[in-house]
Amino acid sequence: MKSTVFFGSARQSRLEAKETLPAKLDLIIERLKLRERVKDEMVAIKMHTGNNMVYSTIHPVFVRRVVQAIKDGGGKPFVVDVNWDAAGAEQRGYASEVIGCPVYPAAGPEEKYFYSHERPYKSIKNWKVAGLIEDSSFMVNFAHIKGHPSCGFGGAFKNIALGCMAGETRGAMHDVMHYDRYWFPEKCPDPADRQRMMQACPFEALVQDKKDPDQLHLHMEQCNQCGRCLQVAPKGSLKIDAANFSSFQEAVAIAADVVMSTFKPGKTVHMALATHMTPVCDCFGFTSMQVLPDAGVFGSDDIVALDQAVLDVTGKSQLIEDNLPTSMEVHTREGHPFRWLHGPLKDPYIAMEYGEKLGMGSRDYELVDVLPLEKVERSSMQYIAAH
Ligand code: SF4
Repeated sequence: MKSTVFFGSARQSRLEAKETLPAKLDLIIERLKLRERVKDEMVAIKMHTGNNMVYSTIHPVFVRRVVQAIKDGGGKPFVVDVNWDAAGAEQRGYASEVIGCPVYPAAGPEEKYFYSHERPYKSIKNWKVAGLIEDSSFMVNFAHIKGHPSCGFGGAFKNIALGCMAGETRGAMHDVMHYDRYWFPEKCPDPADRQRMMQACPFEALVQDKKDPDQLHLHMEQCNQCGRCLQVAPKGSLKIDAANFSSFQEAVAIAADVVMSTFKPGKTVHMALATHMTPVCDCFGFTSMQVLPDAGVFGSDDIVALDQAVLDVTGKSQLIEDNLPTSMEVHTREGHPFRWLHGPLKDPYIAMEYGEKLGMGSRDYELVDVLPLEKVERSSMQYIAAH
């Protein structure tokens, strides 16, 4: 069965307030019946508050509207994020005086407050869900869309998968990319060959292991799978393999599923703002130029459908290559523009595909535009040719 994704385009027919994104967010909140669903609920609003000099996360104007809607409906809202982003969130505008509710570290100030869930996946045995997430009775998952160096794309899945886990699990999720073996030192006994392989990488992704100089370590985040290292590697000594890159996205889907399992059916809502989309995550502590045109605001009860719709809509745009940092390289132009940016094995759709297999939702959806664009007729008394 098709899921419904509500959408408000960033584009306007007329330059009027009622056609801007905050107004379209209001329409989405209405269509999701958020007010009617939150009476007496403890509502965790999971968003990314960024850190340091980030200014491209969800503007407080949007957060305030969500908070007010929850209060209007009789719910008790609070914003949650990981400890190092929640601390100092007021410096980026997320103060209770501005957004209308407090901002808390989801797993406590030292990330020691969590509930453990056993669900083995490769090197991960337990998933430590942040205490305030599991203690809340309703969750609004409000994601800012951007690129991501581990999986190509940060959306609704990533917002709760990483952001609702305690630090130990976030670290384990990144480490899982190293679970499948990619380096075979027995096929590369000559240190000079190792040196050549490392020097072949223009992104310093392939480095000597910190603990053992005979071992190589691949920084998956920096690797765009260009294949230069493979051209000088002795046969069979190194793999740049889909399994390593997909592991992160599969872990993201499992983590999101574990988080969602702590809520009763119907007690989660997913929203996303696709504006000022940068190449990398809001964790980096800075904002760079946008690499895709603003797309709009999205909302759904189905997390799979939501991220799928976000990717489908943003994927119709061209990557703004003039805005890329000069340190990045585009060597593939197939698939979603975030894939162009982070390499063919970081296909942003993988998490959704895996999430659908886990039964979290459907990639088949109907996109409902809450305020479709009009073709505005221009009228004049007489015909005058435009210059
Ligand atoms: S595939 Fe390219 S980016 Fe990745 S480690 Fe090899 S040379 Fe570096």
